[in-house]
Amino acid sequence: MTAGCSDPSVRPIHASTALIDGTVQHNVRIVPSADGMIASVIVGAEAGARDLRFGHVVAGAANAHSHAFHRLLRGRTHGNGGDFWQWRTAMYRAAACLDPDGYHRVATAVFAEMLTAGWTSVGEFHYVHHQTDGRPYPSENAMGEALIAAAADVSIRLTLLDTCYLHGAPNRPLAREQRRFGDGSVDAWLDRWHELRALVDRSPATPGTRPDVLVGAAIHSVRAVAPDEIARIIEALHADVPVHIHLSEQIAENTQSAEAYGMRPTAVLDRAGALSPRLSVVHATHVRVDEIALLGAAGVTAVLCPTTESDLGDGIGPARALADAGARLALGSDQNAVIDPFLETRGLEYGERLAGNRRGVLTLPMLDAARSSNGARSLGRIGGIAPGAPCDLVEVRETATTIGAEPDQVALVASAADVGTVIVGGRVVAESGLLADGRDPAELLRVAFRSVPTGSGVA
Ligand SMILES: [Zn+2]
Repeated sequence: MTAGCSDPSVRPIHASTALIDGTVQHNVRIVPSADGMIASVIVGAEAGARDLRFGHVVAGAANAHSHAFHRLLRGRTHGNGGDFWQWRTAMYRAAACLDPDGYHRVATAVFAEMLTAGWTSVGEFHYVHHQTDGRPYPSENAMGEALIAAAADVSIRLTLLDTCYLHGAPNRPLAREQRRFGDGSVDAWLDRWHELRALVDRSPATPGTRPDVLVGAAIHSVRAVAPDEIARIIEALHADVPVHIHLSEQIAENTQSAEAYGMRPTAVLDRAGALSPRLSVVHATHVRVDEIALLGAAGVTAVLCPTTESDLGDGIGPARALADAGARLALGSDQNAVIDPFLETRGLEYGERLAGNRRGVLTLPMLDAARSSNGARSLGRIGGIAPGAPCDLVEVRETATTIGAEPDQVALVASAADVGTVIVGGRVVAESGLLADGRDPAELLRVAFRSVPTGSGVA
């Protein structure tokens, strides 16, 4: 028996079927150690007397791109048409409503919704740093601390991607509504980033209670950070720090970059020395064949956000081509209009089908990796179901939606509503849509909406 058996909240898991690296295995016993990692995975095993018994189990999903507060816009932006840029105006109005307390309530609710949906870790691309006029809060990382507290409260793993955001557009200062995003200079951002990292390192390290927080970095985009500034950031951050950037969600981003810098965003990143396996490019949507080759050769992770890219009319990223070139594919819920790892998974494949008139463009193992291990890797973590990985698991129940599906295809028909028990670090953290302590994400969201006075003017 393992040390985990000494902690009654950590129990072995027995699954009738488990999706491991995209392949179905039967009668799988997963034994966690006391520190919440997977000690062993035994296929063809009998269940032990203390085992939690499940039908179908998949690896915890890793949400590689989220802006928690965008959840405030869900169902409020569909009335008047428009495009991404008009949506962004509404998003800025939502951002203006946040303070640390409200941000904490919103993020707690959103992270709770994520956890119950099967996302067991999240990369929060965080840029609402300061007061609305741009002045720092008395505690300069108050907003980041609000996100950390929210993640710890619901037991989702958080990689806080603290974001550098310096310009409103190439060679333009921040607009009034963007002032709270900016630190003024790369050096000032780096100072605050290091302080945030030190703050996390100082947090108590009691097993089972320490919030699982990693501090990563993000560069908002080549719109918001100039090429020389990107190079400086890449040089200044230690090689083990994950770095994320919005690449090319809109065609206008390519145009602006070409006009300002004489090259498109991918080339800017290449020249700045940013293309490497530690980089995750979010929305590799409007990329040419030569850019796909560059991204692939560098071994970046391409984070696609299919529900958001559909919702905002962004376009369809060339997922299979990116993978064939050598990039890893990962998924993000981004604006959180949809929080459902299964819908993101099949959205990735559906984009390929819609664009190319073929089915099964992405293999089942590729889709499983995109939802779990690749996303985890982009967040500085280990994913999947294997010894040494965190014991993060999701039970997908047999429901009217999933009955009859082949076990390896369940993830292509299920939705968040079919998620039963969610396990993080070997412990049950959610069950049938509720957090383990009984809290309902819906109620947390009601509280959040009451505490953030967005009113009807958000959209
Ligand atoms: Zn984003």
